[in-house]
Amino acid sequence: MKYIGAHVSAAGGVENAPLRAYEIGATAFALFTKNQRQWVAKPLTPKSIDLFKERCERYGYGPGQILPHDSYLINLGHPDVDKRQKSLDAFIDELQRCEQLGIDRLNFHPGSHLREISEQQCMNLIAESINFALDQTSGVTAVLENTAGQGSNLGYTHEQLAYIIDKVEDKTRVGVCIDTCHAYAAGYDLKNDYEGFIQNLVDVIGLEYLKGMHLNDSKATLGQKLDRHHSLGQGEIGWAFFEKLMQDTRIDNIPMTLETIEPDLWPQEIAQLKAFAGY
Ligand SMILES: [Zn+2]
Ligand SMILES: [Zn+2]
Repeated sequence: MKYIGAHVSAAGGVENAPLRAYEIGATAFALFTKNQRQWVAKPLTPKSIDLFKERCERYGYGPGQILPHDSYLINLGHPDVDKRQKSLDAFIDELQRCEQLGIDRLNFHPGSHLREISEQQCMNLIAESINFALDQTSGVTAVLENTAGQGSNLGYTHEQLAYIIDKVEDKTRVGVCIDTCHAYAAGYDLKNDYEGFIQNLVDVIGLEYLKGMHLNDSKATLGQKLDRHHSLGQGEIGWAFFEKLMQDTRIDNIPMTLETIEPDLWPQEIAQLKAFAGY
C-alpha cells in the first residue's frame, strides 16, 4: 500500500492536521508538533492530544502513516557542547510529543558541522545524541532525513546515513526518510537512473530502514547542492520518476508526503500519485 499525503499545517493545534490531510485526499501526512522556528513550546494539552487521536482514527491515519518533522533549529551534531545540549533537550521534547500523540516516528535533519569539526566528528556526535535521546524515550523511531548537502549539512550521501545508523545502538528505533529533491540536488540521478538510485539505497542502507519519503521535485540541478523544492513535474526530476516510484512494490507501507511549494496543487498532486499507484 502506498500512503500518500503532504506536510500539512498544524496551525490552531495539532488536532487540525489530520482534518487538513483528509480534506486534500491524503492517506498520510507530515506536521510540526510545535512551532518549527522556536526553541520552546507549550506542552500539548490533553484536549489537543485526545482530539488528534480521535481524528486520526476517524479519518484512518495509523501511526505508520504519520511522519512529524522536528524543529529547524535542532543540530544534534553541533560542535559546541552547550548548543548541542540545547538541541538534544529540544529533540527529546519532540520525541516525547510524538509519544503523547501515539506517533511512532520522528523525522529530522542529521546535523551540521558548521566548518568547525570534521564530517566524521560531526556524525559521531549525531549518533551519540541519538543514542542518548532514544535512551530517554520509548516507542518512537528517530528518522534521519537525507539532505541536499547545502552549507555544512550532513546526510547528503547514503554512506553518511549508513555510518550514523551503524553507530546507533538500538537499530530497531533508527531509520531514514528519503527526500527526492534533496537526493537529486545531492547528485543522485533520479531522473535518468531510477533503478541505480534505488539499488544504491538497498545496498548501502537497506530498505528495512526506510521509514518515510518526502516527494518533491527540484528547482536545483543535479548535484547543485541546493535545497530548492518544486511542484511535481515542474522541476528537474519530472513526473516519470514519481510514476516509477508509485509502481515500485519494494517501497510500500511508509508515509510519503509532499513538501512541494504550492499547497493549492496538493489535491491534484496526490490524485495523480494515487492514479500512478493504481488507486
Ligand atoms: Zn526536512
Ligand atoms: Zn524533506
